[in-house]
Amino acid sequence: MKYCRFKIDGRAEYGLIEAFAGKDEITRLLLRHPEDESREFEDLPTKRMQRLPLNEATLLAPVRPSKIVCVGRNYREHAAELGNEIPAEPLIFLKPPSSLLATEQPIRRPKVSQRVDYEGELAVVMGRTCHQIGAGEDVRPYILGYTCLNDVTARDLQKPDGQWTRAKGFDTFCPVGPVVTNEIDPWAGVGVETRVDGSIRQQGNTRDFIFSLDIIIRYIAEVMTLLPGDLIATGTPQGVGPVVAGQMVEVSVEGIGTLRNSVIDE
Ligand code: MG
Repeated sequence: MKYCRFKIDGRAEYGLIEAFAGKDEITRLLLRHPEDESREFEDLPTKRMQRLPLNEATLLAPVRPSKIVCVGRNYREHAAELGNEIPAEPLIFLKPPSSLLATEQPIRRPKVSQRVDYEGELAVVMGRTCHQIGAGEDVRPYILGYTCLNDVTARDLQKPDGQWTRAKGFDTFCPVGPVVTNEIDPWAGVGVETRVDGSIRQQGNTRDFIFSLDIIIRYIAEVMTLLPGDLIATGTPQGVGPVVAGQMVEVSVEGIGTLRNSVIDE
């Protein structure tokens, strides 16, 4: 199943994406009450009359997370390229929900930074409330699906600040989308690729995670309650680098699609 959030009749709605006659179309999902967001999307009634071609829709960030939890240095080659040791346990940090950005919307480079980097990543979307997962319990039932995420980073502010809130937290620094799908299996390995103006900058595979999704989700859920819609960014492969105004950054995850964002100066 593939889902999105999109604008229709001036409102933000969730949609189910299906192919009709070879073309992807969005069927609006009726969420009767805000609490319905905690339910599995598959359970929700759909209104088949309101279909919209995917390529005509204005897509929004596909989730409304209470928090965005990110894993730093989860690929060996990326840890090495920034001169860091392989961590002994997951290194986690937060991005604020105010940094969320939809596909096709511009990333704004803040005036206070001289170097803004892309970091293409696979992101997990939580489907159920999750806190302190029992030993031997499978993490997969807690996962709604997966999407693409760009962990945009003001690299020149990251080290001097001593922690990463500012470097990772500017508005527009968390592009996410275009859709959420449960049709991929990161345990089996999916490709993560980042392109700038069409040229490939990062090519990784989730098979090469230092910490598997089981370890990451368990580790985070020991600390905080994960809520439906929360995002977990799983770390970026090697090849991070800067972008400047006028460039186009694309993050593609195999089986999900491509998250596209131009870059402008504030
Ligand atoms: Mg990252």
